[in-house]
Amino acid sequence: MTDQGRRRLLKGAAIAGAGAVLPGFARAQGGSDSDFYRIATEETFTTAEVYEATAVYIKSGADDEAGLGLPPADSALIRSLTDMGEGRLADMDSAGINVQVLSLWSPGVQIFDIAQGTELARETNDQLAGTIRRHPDRFAGLATIATQAPERAAQEIDRAMTTLRLNGVIINSHTKGEYLDNRKFWEIFEAAQAIDAAIYLHPRKPSVEMFQPFSQYAMDGPMFGFHIDASVHSVRLLLSGVFDAFPDLTIVVGHMGEGLPFWLKRLDDIVAREDLQTIKRRPSEYFRDNFVITTSAMFWDPILMLSHEVLGADRIMFGVDYPFASSEEGVAWLDAAPLSEADKKKIYETNARRVFNIVNA
Ligand code: MN
Repeated sequence: MTDQGRRRLLKGAAIAGAGAVLPGFARAQGGSDSDFYRIATEETFTTAEVYEATAVYIKSGADDEAGLGLPPADSALIRSLTDMGEGRLADMDSAGINVQVLSLWSPGVQIFDIAQGTELARETNDQLAGTIRRHPDRFAGLATIATQAPERAAQEIDRAMTTLRLNGVIINSHTKGEYLDNRKFWEIFEAAQAIDAAIYLHPRKPSVEMFQPFSQYAMDGPMFGFHIDASVHSVRLLLSGVFDAFPDLTIVVGHMGEGLPFWLKRLDDIVAREDLQTIKRRPSEYFRDNFVITTSAMFWDPILMLSHEVLGADRIMFGVDYPFASSEEGVAWLDAAPLSEADKKKIYETNARRVFNIVNA
């Protein structure tokens, strides 16, 4: 459907009056009558070029990543991931999601050599900007960077935020087993802080070095390994002094904070006991000031309430993890969650606008 067609449909539905379900404002099945403006912040896509390059990479035997897998190009999953129009918008409409903040499927371009990774990042960001231009009221997007070349990655952050007007940066966790607390990556943080680009630190499979205990029972993927990897990565950042060097840097982590809200007091206690000298403040202080978490794929009241109590409503954003989790389930869950309407508005909309500078949607 064209934007014009969509607007016409919207207008028509409005005229139809009571009982009509507006695109983008559909009531969640079994949910409330609430009419929140809903921004979903961890919504996944891939491009034909990245898919093809990943397939070639795996086939070439160059795969030094643990257990990288790829579904067939004609599978439902890959079709969903590469659909930047009709199917994606239809899913958003039926769930009542107004805006998806798009980011490239993990591990993205971080597996490739520098030249290929850098080129694919540029191309991906150009395509993403094109998608947003076609649907400026429905999509925002995070820039992909090839972290394996930190200087060029920093330049791409500048280009993506200024020329392409993207809304932040996605980094799919470790890069060939290296973590961002390593100072060779810090010019990425410097560039991101300077231009006020939040970095979404998204999980991927554990690095080769930590893979073995995850190698059975499907533990390496989104069941557990992804989150342990992202959690370890986040703790390395918290303990490394990154946030003393870049006090205005914002890191976004999904999956209700990748377990960290649960661990904060323990981190503080042991950092004090060990008299760790790498940081000036307590880990929990950096986490509260420099991290924002999202609900992606973790539609569960107990951990929402824990996170809400530990961090407050200003540090939590709604996310689905489309197409790996259900938009409809995510909306029905948060609509019915035991929080005030004011806090839900922050989680659905206000925080995402602030963190990702969303103004057109
Ligand atoms: Mn995800």
